[in-house]
Amino acid sequence: MQPKSILIKNGYILTLNSKREIIEKGSLYIENDTILDIGKTKELKGQKADLVIDASNKIVMPGLIDTHTHLAQALIRGCADDVSLVDWLKKYVWVLQGNFTKDDGRVSAELCMAEMIRTGTTSFIECMIHTRYGFDGIAKAVERVGMRGALSKIIMDSTGYADSADIMYPGMVEDAEAGLNETDEMYRKWHGKANGRIQVWYGLRSLGAVTPELFKDVARRTREKPTRMTMHLGEVIDDVRYVRENFGTNLTTFARQHDLLGPDMVFAHGIHFEDSELKVLADSKSNISHCPASNMKLASGFAKVPQMLQAGVPVSLGCDGGPSNNTYDMIREMRLAALIHKSYVNDPLVVTAEDAIEMATLGGAVAMGIHDRVGSLEKGKIADIILINLHELGLTPHTNPVSNLVYSGNGEYVDTVIVNGRILMQDKHLLTLDEQTVMENAREHSVALMERAGIENKPKWLVR
Ligand SMILES: [Zn+2]
Repeated sequence: MQPKSILIKNGYILTLNSKREIIEKGSLYIENDTILDIGKTKELKGQKADLVIDASNKIVMPGLIDTHTHLAQALIRGCADDVSLVDWLKKYVWVLQGNFTKDDGRVSAELCMAEMIRTGTTSFIECMIHTRYGFDGIAKAVERVGMRGALSKIIMDSTGYADSADIMYPGMVEDAEAGLNETDEMYRKWHGKANGRIQVWYGLRSLGAVTPELFKDVARRTREKPTRMTMHLGEVIDDVRYVRENFGTNLTTFARQHDLLGPDMVFAHGIHFEDSELKVLADSKSNISHCPASNMKLASGFAKVPQMLQAGVPVSLGCDGGPSNNTYDMIREMRLAALIHKSYVNDPLVVTAEDAIEMATLGGAVAMGIHDRVGSLEKGKIADIILINLHELGLTPHTNPVSNLVYSGNGEYVDTVIVNGRILMQDKHLLTLDEQTVMENAREHSVALMERAGIENKPKWLVR
């Protein structure tokens, strides 16, 4: 039975409010899906809750928001490691995903969500759901499991990737009209449903897979509905070559010419922008989902995150997918975001622990268009909250818990997860998914999928 009211008391609360206040020995009172009160424990008087959670020695903070994830890639975790990007796509990821069944799509989404909840993610943007993964089944899983998710239907009408023509694996090719129709149908059925937790977006496939006319058409449809859209942009240098050779311009001018700029757009990766383009992103309030682990693993390059933050570009964080990260742990992602740029620009002052936490919470809420309700802990906001145990060897001592969380933390330290006032994990036990079943299903489906796709995955060393 889910409690109707929850009192979290004696926690170390990171509010992420406009003053970025931290409340030591703080309490937070939730009724239904809303935070009704927050302050020092001794000041919150007379709140009688159905459930009282003692958060002594715990960080209490807004749930983490992963703004670039592939639910369907959890099932192919570790299936394409230490290979070039072209091999990664052509020999492994597209072939495996092009052999997915709808059951695989659901099983993978459940595995992914179980890991996200366990590691403190409460909301996510799934960037491209192929028809063969079963949109409806995935939406039902999100409804059941209790997370907040933007589900983007993949849209494409060509078989290229960046400046390479006709390279898409046949099982990954979709018809534009069918994709648009399915988005309409899923939008009617799911947008705003599950107590407002589910959104239905357009997931434009990368440059080279979408013609200029279709880009414009989707931008128009997005604003008509209204909803939001996301696409990979500038992940590879080939994207830059593609727009230069075919349109004689740069990425942001191409985006402007095709109505793709705006606060309703989330560009994933956004690595290969010129310095002069950052102002265009900032002025148009176009969101960037920064994916440091994926960018390092696939040797994509370094996004100009310090310069983006300086220029006022809205930046959030994404874990990308099982074959590119290979985890869905946003705390590890915050750590990478705070580390890699220091080394790259030779300045230990860029991207602080506080910057990383802001990107993973407030930045994510902006990217999802829900920052009026989610992303900080304040009176009247929705209760998307996580508790992180500080009584862990790897976090001890914790004279500065903010710093420890980012530089010493990982998702295993997350203790309790609440979304929309509903507890999804308590004392590290998942309440809306059976962890054993999720893992068994995933192992079974992954073996069958590898067989069907004709792909073997073994260590490079001799296995006896
Ligand atoms: Zn991606």
